[in-house]
Amino acid sequence: LGFLPRTALVAGARSYRYADVLSAAVTTCRQLESRRATQPGSNAGGTAAQDAGPRVALMADPGAAYVAGAYGTWLHGGITVPLCLTHPDRELQYVLEDAEVSSVLVSERHADRMAALAQPFGAEVLLVETQPQQEAGQPVDKGQAEELQREVGHRLEGRGGGEGALIIYTSGTTGRPKGALHTHGSLAAQVDTLCEAWAWQQADRILHCLPLHHVHGIVNALLCPLSTGACAEMLPKFSPREVWQHLQRKEDAVTVFMGVPTMYSHLLTWRDNHMDAKQQAAAAAAARRLRLTVSGSAACPGPIMQRWEELSGNKLLERYGMTETGMILGNPYSGERRPETVGQPFEGVQVRLANADGSDAGAGPGELRVKSPQLFKQYWRRPEATAEAFDEQDFFLTGDTGIIEGGYYKLLGRTSVDIIKHGGYKISALHIESALLEHPALAEVAVLGLPDEVYGERIAAVAALKNGGSLTLQELRAFASASLPAYQLPAELKVVPAIPRNAMGKVNKKELRKQLFPSD
Ligand code: ATP
Ligand code: MG
Repeated sequence: LGFLPRTALVAGARSYRYADVLSAAVTTCRQLESRRATQPGSNAGGTAAQDAGPRVALMADPGAAYVAGAYGTWLHGGITVPLCLTHPDRELQYVLEDAEVSSVLVSERHADRMAALAQPFGAEVLLVETQPQQEAGQPVDKGQAEELQREVGHRLEGRGGGEGALIIYTSGTTGRPKGALHTHGSLAAQVDTLCEAWAWQQADRILHCLPLHHVHGIVNALLCPLSTGACAEMLPKFSPREVWQHLQRKEDAVTVFMGVPTMYSHLLTWRDNHMDAKQQAAAAAAARRLRLTVSGSAACPGPIMQRWEELSGNKLLERYGMTETGMILGNPYSGERRPETVGQPFEGVQVRLANADGSDAGAGPGELRVKSPQLFKQYWRRPEATAEAFDEQDFFLTGDTGIIEGGYYKLLGRTSVDIIKHGGYKISALHIESALLEHPALAEVAVLGLPDEVYGERIAAVAALKNGGSLTLQELRAFASASLPAYQLPAELKVVPAIPRNAMGKVNKKELRKQLFPSD
């Protein structure tokens, strides 16, 4: 509340003070309240979770409606369920049904579509009303500030950290997306940890272009600046041209950028291919001005790290986290950042490496297991999945394999698809990908294990080439043999126009294998 006169959000030509966003949140909260009172027949409360607050889906473009929708839901005592703007109807229906949503908050563009989708579930669709700031820097009226203070204080009175706040659906990389329920307490722990670790300040301004239905875009890149009193400038979606434009602005300069590895790759390629020498120099100067650039959600290949460092003089800060856990491991903010590692556990996070039988694996390789106040409460309506996700010591099973090298954790990949069992070896697909990507003809690569009668699994590389490039398996093997032992060289190469990725830059390797190697 102390931030009321400050600018919270900038979206397009509009900017919103904290006071504007909070007023819109209060209005949204009242809307939710009055609609519920007049609709006793709706499925509010649902069948499954008697003790949980009403689930309120959120389908809003990046900007004030999204933020007011989420905060309005929280003021109301509800659980926000952010939807993915680019999902097809079927996926959205799955979430509306699974979360037993009673209301859907929308920004204008989505009203008709969501009304049609929500109707079969008896959920109401409400438009989030937002008033942009009239003039930048306008002071907040004393009466308005007092009223907000009173209203918000009254609504939050007696609320505990154990109440449900957010259901985020996992990316669905390894199966059907599961709803992970976070409480106000687990979210606060995530936000506090990151604000401290990454030194968020009121003077910061993040350029935000991440999807708003995953922790990366919601917690790391939005709730952190908003909890600090900083400013989030939100783009409708990622576009390398627009990101470069915004980064080059000298007044109201951007200080923080967060992205998935493919975004950094696109930014670098865009600069190479679409800028003349003078523009390239300006882009480099802009990249140098950023105080913090974070990469995560998928492994950042060494060559991308290196090119970004050459350009900006700064290393990307790579970190590792999950929907269920928030951020677990990260390279230091001050201190040495090591490429192709994910650093050390964040404050308050316990990590151990475990063998398949649960015993300690020391420095690994082993499964990463985690205990921390940031952890989700449960998978929504999936008690069995929740029980299976924790071991006897109450550590959460990430399903990822890692190793500790020189005090830094290194991810070898998802145990189910990225650890290739070839002969007696367990080989990390991520490690091979990084080595192959050094090849000048390669734009993108995904490495898979295919069933093999002799070796158990054999290594296949799926590659997308740079414009006009060509590549044979023999050439790739000859090149990679400089950095990889013979048993880690791909036995097959499939060239594709582009590697399919989801909104978070992740490759669904099971799906890719099915499509490209149907007989294996
Ligand atoms: P699902 O659980 O539905 O299969 P998902 O695991 O992809 O989907 P998320 O919770 O969004 O859903 O992603 C977490 C996963 O992302 C981690 O388990 C890990 O495999 C991967 N990941 C996140 N950060 C990194 C990183 N820096 N390097 C490598 N992998 C990462
Ligand atoms: Mg997962």
